[in-house]
Amino acid sequence: MFSHDTQLSLQVVVDFVNTAPQCSGSERLCDAVAVESFVLQHHVSDVNPRDYARLGPLHEVRERLRELFGVADPAHTAGLVNSLIAEAPMRPRLSDHDDYGWHLHYFSPEASLSEHLAVDGGIAIAHLVAAGESDRLRVCAAPDCACVLADFSRNRSKRYCDARTCGNRLNVAAYRERKRAAVATGD
Ligand SMILES: [Zn+2]
Ligand SMILES: [Zn+2]
Repeated sequence: MFSHDTQLSLQVVVDFVNTAPQCSGSERLCDAVAVESFVLQHHVSDVNPRDYARLGPLHEVRERLRELFGVADPAHTAGLVNSLIAEAPMRPRLSDHDDYGWHLHYFSPEASLSEHLAVDGGIAIAHLVAAGESDRLRVCAAPDCACVLADFSRNRSKRYCDARTCGNRLNVAAYRERKRAAVATGD
């Protein structure tokens, strides 16, 4: 369906978007240490450590990536992706960092961290749009949750984020509800 690359990049986008207060309750990319640990955890390559402290542009790119989730019209997604990747410097080249095997990087070597994430995420989502699959980018279906998810399941059945284990929470709530109903009717 998608290349491994695209899936990995989309997972980085999801995790990145979900560091925002809307999902996490508080700002998880709140300082250089937090940004550095995100970068290391997600094997974001070729990052200038100077960029760890540049939170403004990072949060801005994150907000623009968030807008690509839960969109019904692919034309709308396409427009947003086009403007996102048009603003960042690109120079495609192959890399094999972190034992990932050869894969294509699109960001320029001189790109800042926020530009890097804009290009990486933007291109991955562009592939999704081109495959007619952009509806796989969703906002969590739990009523009290604004986290996002990418549904890679074969039958497109994923509705809840992993960030807060919402599916599980709702299942437990439904189970308790059924039990309460059973007790009330004497079953
Ligand atoms: Zn890479
Ligand atoms: Zn959720």
